[in-house]
Amino acid sequence: MAIVCICDGCGKQEPAEHWPGGIFKPSHWFGRKDDDGEQLACSRECIEKVAAKSGKTALVLPI
Ligand SMILES: [Zn+2]
Repeated sequence: MAIVCICDGCGKQEPAEHWPGGIFKPSHWFGRKDDDGEQLACSRECIEKVAAKSGKTALVLPI
């Protein structure tokens, strides 16, 4: 079963990456977790879209 990550900014879908230890977002995506849950963005542009939607800071760590 493929696990797909969905960008919160543009809705783009990409397969998640499988690593020892678990399944993670694509390594070039950006993600963060806060009280509202996890947010994913496929690019810096989308980080800004997500931040605008949520009214939060656009600062995230590229991990
Ligand atoms: Zn996106």
